[in-house]
Amino acid sequence: MIAGPCAIESRAQIDLTAKFVASAGAAMVRGGAYKPRTSPYAFQGLGEEGVKLIAAACQAAGLPAVVEALAETQLLVLDWYVDMIQIGARNMQNFTLLQAAARTGKPVLLKRAPFATLDEVLYAAEYILLEGNPNVVLCERGVRGFDPQTRNLFDLGGALRLKELTHLPVIADPSHAAGHRDLVPALARVAVAAGADGLLVEVHPNPEKAWSDGEQSLDFAEFDEMMALMEPYFALRGFALSEPASVRSMEAVG
Ligand code: PEP
Ligand code: MN
Repeated sequence: MIAGPCAIESRAQIDLTAKFVASAGAAMVRGGAYKPRTSPYAFQGLGEEGVKLIAAACQAAGLPAVVEALAETQLLVLDWYVDMIQIGARNMQNFTLLQAAARTGKPVLLKRAPFATLDEVLYAAEYILLEGNPNVVLCERGVRGFDPQTRNLFDLGGALRLKELTHLPVIADPSHAAGHRDLVPALARVAVAAGADGLLVEVHPNPEKAWSDGEQSLDFAEFDEMMALMEPYFALRGFALSEPASVRSMEAVG
């Protein structure tokens, strides 16, 4: 379970969220510092400052961090501060960016572009593998549909087909697929029940006030409830929840 805000907004926001999702059983924290926004007038992310904030928050929470790179120039900072590099849907076929991200040696989270066929996803992944970086995780986040009632069309069949075609792990992002927070927990459950290897879910301390993707972000209580409802689904798949870092460190001091 990778969870966290769409965008890193402040030290308090990312500290609080990282600590919370860790205590709720997440394995990794996400947060955007360089945001690919449809409108150039929308919040573009805190940049390097945001990367430093999520790194500090994750160190305190005891979890690794994943942050999206939009450009090669951001990779040096990301390589230094974070544990995994996300290539977003809009850059899935930015092949020079894929190669440069691969060369950091960090694991890469590669999101499916909204118009990409599965073969195109697999070829994009090959660009990373061919650089000698075997650590690629594919992510189904919905493809462009025809009905604006959901933000994207969640292609669970496509995700399962990907699992037949590659040895790479395939995770699902019900947040960007649905676009509405109410739909996220059910889509998360079916994805795991069907065979997804993990999830990416947007969580924000106050979604109503979020600077991006608030309408699809879960608040803390909703995330907690979703995680509780997921327990039998995780068990079905043999997934163990990561123990909160705070519990681990308490055990360490006895
Ligand atoms: C995100 O993960 O916040 C994001 C921008 O997702 P996508 O690239 O799938 O649109
Ligand atoms: Mn988002």
